[in-house]
Amino acid sequence: MYERHHFVGGKEVEGTSGRFGPIFNPSTGEQAGKVALATKAEVENAIATAEAAFPAWSGTSVVKRARVLQDLVQILYREKDALAAALSSEHGKVFSDAQGDVQRGLEVAEFAQGIPHLLKGEYSDNVSTGIDMYSMRKPLGVVAGITPFNFPAMIPLWMSCVAIACGNTFVMKPSEKDPTVPLMFAKCWKEAGLPDGVFNVINGDKESVDTICTDPRVKAVSFVGSTPIAQYVYATATAHGKRCQAMGGAKNHMLIMPDADLDQVADALIGAAYGSAGERCMAISVAVPVGKAVADKMVEMLKPRVEELKVGHSMDPLAEMGPLVTADHLAKVRGYIDLAETEGSDLVVDGRAFKYNMQGYENGYYLGGTLLDNVKPGMRSYKEEIFGPTLQILRTESFEEALRLPSEHEYGNGTSIFTRDGDTAREYANRVEVGMVGVNVPIPVPLAFHSFGGWKGSAFGDINQHGMEGVRFYTKTKTVTSRWPTGIRAGAEFVIPTLN
Ligand code: NAD
Repeated sequence: MYERHHFVGGKEVEGTSGRFGPIFNPSTGEQAGKVALATKAEVENAIATAEAAFPAWSGTSVVKRARVLQDLVQILYREKDALAAALSSEHGKVFSDAQGDVQRGLEVAEFAQGIPHLLKGEYSDNVSTGIDMYSMRKPLGVVAGITPFNFPAMIPLWMSCVAIACGNTFVMKPSEKDPTVPLMFAKCWKEAGLPDGVFNVINGDKESVDTICTDPRVKAVSFVGSTPIAQYVYATATAHGKRCQAMGGAKNHMLIMPDADLDQVADALIGAAYGSAGERCMAISVAVPVGKAVADKMVEMLKPRVEELKVGHSMDPLAEMGPLVTADHLAKVRGYIDLAETEGSDLVVDGRAFKYNMQGYENGYYLGGTLLDNVKPGMRSYKEEIFGPTLQILRTESFEEALRLPSEHEYGNGTSIFTRDGDTAREYANRVEVGMVGVNVPIPVPLAFHSFGGWKGSAFGDINQHGMEGVRFYTKTKTVTSRWPTGIRAGAEFVIPTLN
């Protein structure tokens, strides 16, 4: 059994609480390690360390900060497979998908290399006679990131690369289910030349989160996780005067218009619903065919493909999806399938029957792909996020009826439409009440130089992750009005300045 602790002030620090959380290998169902859960005092020490590192780091020239990011990018490419292997053993997603998790985070590090350009302010020359006006983006101070289990590489990199490039110092609180990769990142940052104390990792649970959200030295909190916790973190952090962005859960719909290329739709749905065992906040979990003919055809095409999904352990190169993250989560997803059945959905493919008999892996947290038809908007299994390898089909009769489903759903993270008609696609993209939209693209995750964020119950706060939104989140604007003529020498002015 391995142990994971904290990384503070440029070195690994052993936890002192005596409290640990289990780390499982979801592929085998065995406990592989344990993670130290920090006390309030340990979190406060990490915050103090980050605070002490802030003056020097924020005063480091932006070009030197960019060079650290450049070196980090090279190191992350070198370490990509090692990171992906560690990630896949704790999360359970298949290795190739874990490589993608690292890659999507790495792309934010690549984006942040351009920080000298991104931090350029505005300058207006001679706004009034002899007066210039300029603005600059200043770092906030100590900022914190609290992350979910499902993207243990990408999401910590979304937050930390932009925050640190902007000149902030960082306290990272990863998911206790898969804490290894963020600790590996700490070593990568150090090797890239980041001064000690700028990037710190504190492992923990609610006690750590509460300390981060209430400590006055933390100026901003970035959170990604489930909606109830996102709401709680947003309310607590903002009540304590902090800037906060808190991304929550999702229920992502894909509209299938009668003119769509149904082979393309089937491929897209299989990957987007069942990839990573559905444990993606941008997974498609609801298919919305428009018209009976499309719906019948989709069920006919999807059924054999869902039945034939290759479920296997996370390092099996032939596996298309791995196990779920924990036994508790497996039980929760199975419970939602039970519920969907009792609520009257048609169970076209029942993943609960799946058994993985490979020797040594019999106790892993496996579930087969599940396909549910004739799901209705009032069902609780539709209203709530399942976060597993389940796809629900809601049949509709018209574009307007289909458009209302994602628009009226509590969540509004991502959605997509498959059609050959540009006008329909444009209408949908413009009107749907969801933050990220794909047109003939099933998982519309914006690239690093755009920004990521849902609407409604999928995000609290109004600034997205990464891209220019990320730069805005981690900086505050200072605007200087400057005059260098004889004004002061000519004597004081008692009338409010006006333009002349
Ligand atoms: P989670 O909410 O259980 O945990 C997220 C973080 O909150 C973890 O660091 C955890 O330690 C902490 N936490 C858990 N319970 C807490 C409590 N009671 N008080 C304070 N902190 C607490 O989420 P998860 O299960 O790790 O991740 C899956 C969820 O994240 C899904 O709902 C998924 O949709 C969502 N997600 C959203 C996005 C997005 O960008 N919208 C991206 C990825 C995941």
